[in-house]
Amino acid sequence: MTPSTVCYRCDRTYRDTDRVRCDCGEPLWFDIDSHGFDLNDRGDGRGLSHYAGALPLSELEGLATAAGNTPLIRSQPLDEVAGCRVFVKDEGGNPTGSYKDRGSAIAVSRALDRSDNAVGTVSYGNMAMSTAAHAASRGRECVVLVPDDIPPGRLELIGQYDPTILRVEGDYGGLYDEVLELSRELPVSFLLSDAPGRISGYKTALFEIYEAMTPATPDAIALPASSGGFASGIWRGILDLQTAGVIDDPPRLYLVQTAASDPITRAFEADRDAVSALPPEDVGETIAHSIGNPDPPSGTRALTAVRETGGAVCSVTDDEIRTAKRQFARRSGFCVEPASAAPLAGVAQLTERGAIDRDESVVLVPTGTGFKEMGTGTEAVRTETVARSGLSSQLESRLST
Ligand SMILES: *Cc1c(COP(=O)(O)O)cnc(C)c1O
Ligand SMILES: [Zn+2]
Repeated sequence: MTPSTVCYRCDRTYRDTDRVRCDCGEPLWFDIDSHGFDLNDRGDGRGLSHYAGALPLSELEGLATAAGNTPLIRSQPLDEVAGCRVFVKDEGGNPTGSYKDRGSAIAVSRALDRSDNAVGTVSYGNMAMSTAAHAASRGRECVVLVPDDIPPGRLELIGQYDPTILRVEGDYGGLYDEVLELSRELPVSFLLSDAPGRISGYKTALFEIYEAMTPATPDAIALPASSGGFASGIWRGILDLQTAGVIDDPPRLYLVQTAASDPITRAFEADRDAVSALPPEDVGETIAHSIGNPDPPSGTRALTAVRETGGAVCSVTDDEIRTAKRQFARRSGFCVEPASAAPLAGVAQLTERGAIDRDESVVLVPTGTGFKEMGTGTEAVRTETVARSGLSSQLESRLST
């Protein structure tokens, strides 16, 4: 039986599961009943298929079987920076280096199983790479719409999977509605940030966190947020575990944005019910380009998640992000992309403000690896040149023990 989709806000359900948004304007997610869902019943499946009972598809193949199953690490050296007990859920370990693979594993698989259509997306970052890779692993066609001025390094990362890449001239930001319309007219299923299947895939990160920590539970989870898709998935995972009776008290959700583009923070701080698009003059440049969306399709849903769990939204500057990226590397050995360093900077702010206590357990989610994102930390690298002949004494004088 195909599950229907439902609106988190008005509860309206839809049988047409290709539909992305409710009549009320909010994004939909899959309506899968999690009563009786048993986190510990891992079945035979690996990765996301552990949780098949809570997902809108049961069989995964190819790259989809390699998504998820990322490590959760207790990282004491980061406690001092964050001001609380830090756990790191390293999403850089996914096949294309970001949590987007959890969403592609479900949404791309589902779209390809259900029709002969190509899949497509609008992205020049992790979403594009992930969608193209998952289509490639199934030997299927993928279309990626990128901005005309895309940097060559990004083209290389996406282009290696050989999707059809169209460089779109003109207003790239306004493509969302147009592309959903094209999905209805052409044999291509566009899977954007809030495709219901993606949200289902994202909730598995939350399931894994609870499984790894049991019998302990996290007091809070901190994520970077842009479109609000990942935050929506984590929230849906929390709701599923509450329905299943696995958790009583939800963890507080903390979302961290870049100060250069922070519509969710602004709505949170102004106590508004909905997130509205930032006007162009309020959008700046940032090194955290994975979280630069000024008009987040799932922004209001993410804001609702924060309010319902008693969390908060905050913004951090590029300088704070650079420092946090360095701390991730120096104090815990993680190479994270700038957007993924934001939660550490955000949590440091929140503990300072007293929103998080010293003895609370907080899961930071570095959403993507820093290995594709070089060039933002060169000024922090220390080197010295030494003469070959005096190597031993030079070395001895540099060692502090
Ligand atoms: C896509 C992305 C984000 C933002 O997630 P949203 O679902 O758009 O809120 C954060 N970090 C990384 C590394 C990403 O690729
Ligand atoms: Zn609705």
